[in-house]
Amino acid sequence: MHCPFCRHPDSRVIDSRTADDGLSIRRRRQCPECGRRFTTTETASLTVIKRSGVVEPFSREKVMSGVRKACQGRPVTDADLAVLAQQVEESLRSSGIAQFDTNEIGLAILPHLRELDEVAYLRFASVYQAFNSLTDFEVAISELRAHPRTGSHPAQSGSVSDYEE
Ligand SMILES: [Zn+2]
Repeated sequence: MHCPFCRHPDSRVIDSRTADDGLSIRRRRQCPECGRRFTTTETASLTVIKRSGVVEPFSREKVMSGVRKACQGRPVTDADLAVLAQQVEESLRSSGIAQFDTNEIGLAILPHLRELDEVAYLRFASVYQAFNSLTDFEVAISELRAHPRTGSHPAQSGSVSDYEE
């Protein structure tokens, strides 16, 4: 980490703390050359390995666009999708793993999408869990009926009221 004052290429960490969002770390640093102190915010990088083998940074926007297709015609707003993408990122980060493949991202999306909209969840699950028969749908629907969602999801109530206007 370069010193922002004298460009010295090294610095000493004198304090570290996790930011309020839990997604980044703030470090207080001191330059050994000029003695001045500065603060840096570092975000642990999350990466995704695509099926082609290309590695790219995790993107909430891509989670949203992937889920948006499954939500066509459903009462799900972009704000709901943004909350969902944030929840997905938080659950990926809380795993302590830094790299995921696209299938793992899909699996991480499922429980959050289920809370948001069950029809969109079924559409999305049919792709990511490779449903290939009616039985797969029946099993998934039985599972939904056996374990109803809590209904306390804040994004869910928000989307309902948006559509009542
Ligand atoms: Zn310096």
